[in-house]
Amino acid sequence: MSHKACYTNPGAGVKRPRNDTGNKLTVVLGAQWGDEGKGKVVDLLATESDIICRCQGGNNAGHTVVVDGKEYDFHLLPSGIINSKALSVIGNGVVIHLPGLFEEAEKNEKKGLKDWEKRLIISDRAHIDDFKNTFLRLFDFHQAVDGLQEVQRQAQEGKNIGTTKKGIGPTYSSKASRTGLRICDLLADFKDFSMRFKNLAQQYQAMFPTLEVDVDGQLKKLKEYAERIRPMVRDGVYFMYDAINGPPKKILVEGANAALLDIDFGTYPFVTSSNCTVGGVCTGLGIPPLNIGDVYGVVKAYTTRVGIGAFPTEQLNEVGELLQTRGHEVGVTTGRKRRCGWLDLVILRYANMINGFTAFALTKLDILDVMDEIKVGVSYKLNGKKIPYFPANMDVLQKVEVEYEKLPGWKSDTSTCRKWEDLPVKAQNYIRFVEIHVGVPIKWVGVGKARESMIQLF
Ligand code: GDP
Repeated sequence: MSHKACYTNPGAGVKRPRNDTGNKLTVVLGAQWGDEGKGKVVDLLATESDIICRCQGGNNAGHTVVVDGKEYDFHLLPSGIINSKALSVIGNGVVIHLPGLFEEAEKNEKKGLKDWEKRLIISDRAHIDDFKNTFLRLFDFHQAVDGLQEVQRQAQEGKNIGTTKKGIGPTYSSKASRTGLRICDLLADFKDFSMRFKNLAQQYQAMFPTLEVDVDGQLKKLKEYAERIRPMVRDGVYFMYDAINGPPKKILVEGANAALLDIDFGTYPFVTSSNCTVGGVCTGLGIPPLNIGDVYGVVKAYTTRVGIGAFPTEQLNEVGELLQTRGHEVGVTTGRKRRCGWLDLVILRYANMINGFTAFALTKLDILDVMDEIKVGVSYKLNGKKIPYFPANMDVLQKVEVEYEKLPGWKSDTSTCRKWEDLPVKAQNYIRFVEIHVGVPIKWVGVGKARESMIQLF
């Protein structure tokens, strides 16, 4: 560029104001260890949204949405897909297991889901996790059996050991190591795709010689899937740009997993392989941060955690058992009981430091209805000194001493409450206590499974 051209460029040498125009995305994120009831909050907001997006994770996550007495299960599809007037987007940050996508859709079709194929947009930059899942299942299976006793023993001793999670990690690993295959590759030259797929299979077979992969069979299936998804695939970045900068639209992002499962901010190594905090929305959809609007955190009225690892407010007693049974705290895919404990405000403050929540949705308040007394973890002490942060290291987190505040239980049924005034005063006090001690307002309170049992406070 000549000097002249540079000086005549109207933008040169002038600080450009940040562009604060366009539609803003509303984001729903888990604020604890997952299973907070995000599905219900998303469903509530999805009914008035034009576009509903997933930006990270794969079919390892799961949302349950109850509409008209029917329970829908979503793993990869945005749960807003039940809104027949909206478009649903699977963003580039998601990893897609194609057989899983169709299986899930068919299962929900039997319950009444219609025409989902016409409403689904898939980013061409999303990674495919078909092959890796095959690999993973075998790998996990062997690991699980071999290591089972050791895992149990060490878990009982409270030590930190390797994860037992099944998931989508290998796909994200391939993405990071630049050997991954994306939707755009599947839809381009299939010969080229087949070659890259074979290379990937060979790499895995070199690592795990006993692994048998039916490469031709898999490729045949992938070719069929390619044609089925072709009409749904778009350039994800341009689709979002257009949605943000076009006519006014309500755009919703449903987070999968939760803050403490985030690959960077979660209780590493017991985390998922993507960013499930707010940054993942930008990278997983390709949108500017200024277009992020309200960020809602979903919080269960107590705490649960799946699998092993530090859990400061865990209750290994009748309180934990009561929360587990009343709350039906059982893993959807594993069938394992979830560990349960009191609400931990240190965790919520930490999640808020990262996500900057606009408001919380407090779910499953009804599960606490029978408690005489409710405790809330308000701070952590380490070697007798209060700490203002959430420890990164698992051994340190094991050692923290939780300071609790005791609140009286309300001892009455809240499941039929539909407005703030219907709630017992002691339940209202519990809600206010959380708001004040975390510094985030509570916008919704959940008192049951159904859509109607979500009380809106403002
Ligand atoms: P997610 O993984 O965070 O989306 O959690 P799910 O959507 O799977 O929700 C966990 C379970 O809690 C589901 O069975 C929901 O129906 C149920 N649930 C959600 N909110 C409430 C609530 O306020 N009260 C009760 N009793 N159950 C709820």
